[in-house]
Amino acid sequence: MAHEICLIPGDGIGPEVAEAAKQVISASGVSIEWRLLPAGAGAIEEFGEVLPEETVRAIEAHRVALKGPVTTPIGKGFTSVNVGLRKRLNLYAAVRPVRNLPGVASRYENVDLVVVRENTEGLYSGIENEITDGVVQSLKIATRTGCTRISKFAFEYAKSRDINRVTVFHKANIMKKSDGLFLDCARKIHGEIGEGIDYDELIIDNGCMQLVRDPSRFQIVLMENLYGDIVSDLCAGLVGGLGVVPGANFGDGCAVFEAVHGSAPDIAGKNIANPLALIMSGVMMLNHLGETEAAGKIKTAYDTVLSEGNPESITRDIGGKGGTKEFADAVVKAMG
Ligand code: ATP
Repeated sequence: MAHEICLIPGDGIGPEVAEAAKQVISASGVSIEWRLLPAGAGAIEEFGEVLPEETVRAIEAHRVALKGPVTTPIGKGFTSVNVGLRKRLNLYAAVRPVRNLPGVASRYENVDLVVVRENTEGLYSGIENEITDGVVQSLKIATRTGCTRISKFAFEYAKSRDINRVTVFHKANIMKKSDGLFLDCARKIHGEIGEGIDYDELIIDNGCMQLVRDPSRFQIVLMENLYGDIVSDLCAGLVGGLGVVPGANFGDGCAVFEAVHGSAPDIAGKNIANPLALIMSGVMMLNHLGETEAAGKIKTAYDTVLSEGNPESITRDIGGKGGTKEFADAVVKAMG
């Protein structure tokens, strides 16, 4: 039976990388009926909003989506699509695996870590007030429920994959209450379900320094929303950039798979963008659906294309001369 999967092409490079991912996933032999859904700047003209209700409802109904990057116009009163979608669907856990890839140059070897980011709280509450002229405040929200469920998610994720270290990045020395609560919950969950898993805590500035000194010492890095946003991009830089890091957002009912990168308007429409991050997100999606054979086939194929290193098949961001389409075609060819 075909899987019915929602596909949000998105804005900027979104449609190009989504088309490439669709092409590669279809070629893996898995049977998918794609349900195309609008979101982002491209949805405004037809729907008058960046996150149409039909898009949210369709993901709720089908439970799985592959999503390209979207742009939310700034200063026009729209709430961020990503934040809106994560809140509406309660996608509280963002998972970003960061690994070295064959043939992709990086300053580091043996990087194999996962950023687990709380996705619904922190400064992303969007609650800001102008107290008086020239004085504003932004509210950072942390709840025991939110901090506990993301900690639980991280330790369960570690257990299910035989990962034996979880490191929390925090700034509880300054934000004693909010980050203090995060630490309190993480420690408690470690005590309850973390047997056999090492647990440590690093103040985030030191954590970033340790990451760029020796990323191989990290396995799961767990943190609140804004830190996770920033550290995800930092980690992408450890293994070749934003073109090679996938992601998934999990809630209790739904999962939305998307690359870490944004809509990259600077390179949109030029057949330059690297579709690998979204293809890898598609592989995560196939594993989530239990389609492990198709997932493995795609992974072997892109590893082959990257290892062979034919510049015509590899995009510029990772040292090649090829385009989005050429890379997708090469991966399809490598699947035989
Ligand atoms: P947004 O506001 O949607 O997050 P942005 O431009 O702030 O967009 P990104 O879209 O993540 O941030 O892009 C950051 C940089 O990384 C840009 O120079 C972009 O061209 C590059 N980049 C992002 N994604 C890719 C990709 N898939 N392939 C190649 N380069 C990429």
